[in-house]
Amino acid sequence: MSVSPFKAAAFLKCPQCGKGNLFSTANPYNIKKFTDMPDHCPECGLSFMPEPGFYYGAMYVSYALTIALSVFNFFWVYMLWGFVVVPYLIINSVLLILLLPIFFRYGRSYYLALVYKIEKTANRRKKF
Ligand SMILES: [Zn+2]
Repeated sequence: MSVSPFKAAAFLKCPQCGKGNLFSTANPYNIKKFTDMPDHCPECGLSFMPEPGFYYGAMYVSYALTIALSVFNFFWVYMLWGFVVVPYLIINSVLLILLLPIFFRYGRSYYLALVYKIEKTANRRKKF
């Protein structure tokens, strides 16, 4: 069965099988455990930690999400109240802090899916 790695990433699932959960707990606001991931997919055995420090690259995905939300917040605050710096900074900071566990998880999920897709494509090219 072939599953789109990016579709699986949207549901925080394994990029290979699309069934195994990437994170140990479903609740991202379980502050003590929201970063916990199994070492391997419980369904297909794909390694979720291919190498030490693998998820440093996930920071770029998380950063892109943060910038996108900040730009979005800027525009809706600007439309409602005009150019107001302090309210924007307060609203944006609060939203970014509240969404941190979600951005963290999607950063890791999409980064794993991206690397999986690249490696799968590279292996396919080696065969042919
Ligand atoms: Zn899997």
